[in-house]
Amino acid sequence: MDCSRRNFFKICAGGLGSSTLAVMGFSPAPVLAESRAFKLARTRETRSTCPYCSVSCGVIMYTLGDGSKNGKPALIHVEGDPDNPVNRGTLCPKGAGLVDMVNSPNRLTYPEYRAPGSNRWQRISWDHALDRIAKLMKDDRDANFAATNAKGEIVNRWLTTGFLASSAASNESGYLTHKVVRPLGIVALDTQARI
Ligand code: SF4
Repeated sequence: MDCSRRNFFKICAGGLGSSTLAVMGFSPAPVLAESRAFKLARTRETRSTCPYCSVSCGVIMYTLGDGSKNGKPALIHVEGDPDNPVNRGTLCPKGAGLVDMVNSPNRLTYPEYRAPGSNRWQRISWDHALDRIAKLMKDDRDANFAATNAKGEIVNRWLTTGFLASSAASNESGYLTHKVVRPLGIVALDTQARI
């Protein structure tokens, strides 16, 4: 080993420092010997669906927090659900990075509205957004609902509005979407999820 004068002093100083820390009770041995706490200990598991694409893989989301009203839960880990028949525990890189999307400060968590002709989006309440959607749907349905076709046959259809359910919609959500939308007469109904 090439031991120059400078290296010799460095080695001596390192050894002296370690022995001094050990004498003072800072020996790393107990720390190295201790088993690390399981990072998912004390988390709550919630089953969900990846919102990114139509494959709709099942995920398990792990959150910290005791569920109390004044406590804010923190999502710390997301992984594939091994019991989900779609993906059997696997996730693609996008799904594997879901925790960053959920915790991103850029994620929009409230509705926004841009008035006709305006170049500015403004934050509105969920009540405002739902009332406006309901009003526009009713106006369009009142104007365009067709009870019969040109031959006078009963069709009860509303062709000027369509409905697309999200990729995170499960079979059950799809069933409920169908139950809400079909009685209105909407024909153009689809869900992005292919499960
Ligand atoms: S994990 Fe990947 S493949 Fe599965 S739904 Fe999400 S984006 Fe699609």
